[in-house]
Amino acid sequence: MTRITDRDLSHGLATRAIHAGQQPDPLAGAVTFPIFQTSTYVQDGIGKNKGYEYARTSNPTRQALERNVAALEGGTHGLAFASGMAAVDAVLTLLSTGDHVVCGENVYGGVHRLMDKVLSRMGLTFTFVDTRDPKQVEAAVTPRTKMLYGETPTNPMMRLADLAAMGAIAKAHRLLFVVDNTFTTPIFQRPFEFGADIVVHSTTKYLNGHSDMVGGILVAKDDALAERLAFIQNSAGAVPGPFDCWLALRGLKTLAVRMHQHDANGRRVAAWLAADKRIRAIYYPGLPSHPQHELAKRQMSGFGAMMSIETGSLEAAGRLVEGVRLFAFAESLGGVESLIGHPATMTHAAVPKAMRDAMGLTDGLVRLSVGIEDVDDLIADLDQALGK
Ligand SMILES: *Cc1c(COP(=O)(O)O)cnc(C)c1O
Repeated sequence: MTRITDRDLSHGLATRAIHAGQQPDPLAGAVTFPIFQTSTYVQDGIGKNKGYEYARTSNPTRQALERNVAALEGGTHGLAFASGMAAVDAVLTLLSTGDHVVCGENVYGGVHRLMDKVLSRMGLTFTFVDTRDPKQVEAAVTPRTKMLYGETPTNPMMRLADLAAMGAIAKAHRLLFVVDNTFTTPIFQRPFEFGADIVVHSTTKYLNGHSDMVGGILVAKDDALAERLAFIQNSAGAVPGPFDCWLALRGLKTLAVRMHQHDANGRRVAAWLAADKRIRAIYYPGLPSHPQHELAKRQMSGFGAMMSIETGSLEAAGRLVEGVRLFAFAESLGGVESLIGHPATMTHAAVPKAMRDAMGLTDGLVRLSVGIEDVDDLIADLDQALGK
């Protein structure tokens, strides 16, 4: 019996999330893909094996995850890593000394740190620009530029980059176009349709969705690029273990249904906060008041559940994050449970204060990752905490 194949993209995203990359196991017919917890594989003879030689190079559970996410993004190959940062590192080691990267100034803090503090020592150069403005992106391109790297929406200010405009710039200058799709997931935003060459995810966040593992994945658009990335994956070896891959696969089965509930809850919470006088400002691309709401509607089919609010002061932010009872005060995002964070002292503490203030990332800013609990309970929790 032939079942859904990895590259069969005729099925909908919810179907792909559950089936792509996973055949029932031939030994017992287990419906759930097994955890191949092994470091090596017995070989039949010299040069004769079943396609598996050593588990850094390939593991069936990891491959199932890689094929699943590749099918969801609509790329040809997935490559899984031990963390989102390991995946980003692999992308950047496609480059050579002297190469230049144009990168969004508002990217994930760890990505900025890897570029600025680690890889710049190896002779790569980076220009950080406001990717809301395609003119700034284009102006930063030099004859040495090889890559355009961006995230949309950005963390925590929820600024958008115009993916179609970025894709056109990358094409005109023959740049590798890399998009971190962690915040929106393939359910709501499809970077390959805008010209991306590589899609990056921290699987730690929405793809796994249950806050119980750390991982990353790359999806490549074509075979040649996938081959280069697989060579780096095997050479550097920052691969995830089979159990973490299995957890991510299990989480992915409900990706579509989770994202639709995140989106519904996100819209409700954002609308409630926007109408509340105790909040000075709210940043959420799904609100008509967001300056890039029209762009959000063009390139995202859902707005998700990430948002930031301005409480006015460090004290007010402190009262809110300490006053909530359902939201958990913690780093990270994208799990089924609601989280609340304080970017200025947590995720963005390494960004100089002047830079933080310039982008609106004040001491009063609080970020929410709205989970899939009953939304009325979430609103009641924020209401009581804001009253403190
Ligand atoms: C968390 C995150 C990363 C880094 O992923 P890790 O799994 O923590 O290494 C990269 N990009 C974005 C947008 C993230 O949220």
